[in-house]
Amino acid sequence: MLEASARAGGKIGTESVAGYLVEQGPHAVLDRGVLAPLGASVGATFVPASATARRRFVFAKGRRQAASPLALLSSLISPAGTLRLLAEPLVAAHRPTHDESLRDFCVRHFGAEAGALAARVFCSGVYAGDESLLSVRAAFPRMAALDAAHRSLFVGALANRGREGPAAFGTFEGGLGTLSRLLAAALGEQLVVGAKVDAIVARDHGWSVAWSGRRANEVKTDAIVLAVPSDAASALLANVAPAASETLAGWESSSVVLVHVGVRLDALVQPPRGFGVIGADDSLGALGVIFSSSFLAGRAPTGHALFTVMLGGARAPELVEAPEPELIATAREALRRCAGLVRAPVFTRVIRQRRAIPQYTLGHAGRLLAADRALESLPPIALAGASFHGVSVGDAARSGEMAAEKVAAIS
Ligand SMILES: Cc1cc2nc3c(=O)[nH]c(=O)nc-3n(C[C@H](O)[C@H](O)[C@H](O)COP(=O)(O)OP(=O)(O)OC[C@H]3O[C@@H](n4cnc5c(N)ncnc54)[C@H](O)[C@@H]3O)c2cc1C
Repeated sequence: MLEASARAGGKIGTESVAGYLVEQGPHAVLDRGVLAPLGASVGATFVPASATARRRFVFAKGRRQAASPLALLSSLISPAGTLRLLAEPLVAAHRPTHDESLRDFCVRHFGAEAGALAARVFCSGVYAGDESLLSVRAAFPRMAALDAAHRSLFVGALANRGREGPAAFGTFEGGLGTLSRLLAAALGEQLVVGAKVDAIVARDHGWSVAWSGRRANEVKTDAIVLAVPSDAASALLANVAPAASETLAGWESSSVVLVHVGVRLDALVQPPRGFGVIGADDSLGALGVIFSSSFLAGRAPTGHALFTVMLGGARAPELVEAPEPELIATAREALRRCAGLVRAPVFTRVIRQRRAIPQYTLGHAGRLLAADRALESLPPIALAGASFHGVSVGDAARSGEMAAEKVAAIS
């Protein structure tokens, strides 16, 4: 395993600073039976989030609302919009044959008013993207499958209740970084960090892989799993598979900034309770806020709370390069609005994640198929990671397993 940066884990990483435990990317995972066993295999203990994580909020029209259907309907949607939303099972939703955007899909099901709100909330919370550009089939396959099977999402959700396997929401003891740290340790010398792969060449039914860095070298291998973002995969395939390289070039990604803010509990009107807040319009001034210490243990010293304010995304891409004082001021203002912060923070840490969240824009599934096909004539090679089959940590891990199975089967 060759990793370009100085440590394994990519977007995942946890650091302990001044008594706060801060994540540099993902905070918690929804595990459907992949991550907890993977962690257990290397001694990382999965810790479910506290029950308070079920309390979620939406910020719209300048106010924080509980993300419960009743609260949202009564405060954010007009009576006519509510009627249209409730009529979803009755309104014959015409399913288009073309790839449909998340926004069009939500409007088709829930009406213009509730649909636009729902699309923005789903999109901000996961992709920090633009809901009118995302392909619902690629970005939210479960919703697309409900639509295909039941026409109505309400009916489909009811019919599927209790049918999906159990899912656990949580992290690992010591933060998500524990998972990547212990996986890296288990690999021992099979993992080379600081090794940026520069070239892959098909040779003798296998591959030759060359990398630069302190321990620059070249190895021969039977198969390759390219577990890198789409633009890195495109660059590596330029000479060996020009058609695949071209298909993978220029895929969109959102940049985000995480501003971790530590405060004394007496700096808040009320201590935070819940998972956090998603901005459903521009009135929060942030993509969202995670109440990190409220649902994850050991995140802040006693008497303090830790928040993580998410800024940037497709709507404000310039923020990823904004000066730190500006980012902290924006985060403070968002916390004043949604969490009742009335005094200065005692701790801040800014983490910039450039081109970090892949955007499954319209046509994604077709492009992926074309890239996979263009790789078929080569020695065993497969794509894995968040650019391709789902952006969550669990999806990325599952895609790694699938890619390994695929190359093993044809090797
Ligand atoms: C701010 C943020 C919050 C998120 N929150 C959540 C969350 O709460 N829950 C959740 O499930 N998901 C979340 N995600 C998504 C999830 O974290 C990522 O999609 C996932 O971790 C990506 O894993 P990956 O291995 O596909 O890619 P990456 O983590 O990007 O890893 C790719 C690796 O490839 C290496 N690499 C690239 N080019 C080369 C090369 N030429 N040679 C060698 N190595 C190379 C890179 O250095 C990197 O280490 C979040 C993402 C972000 C950015």
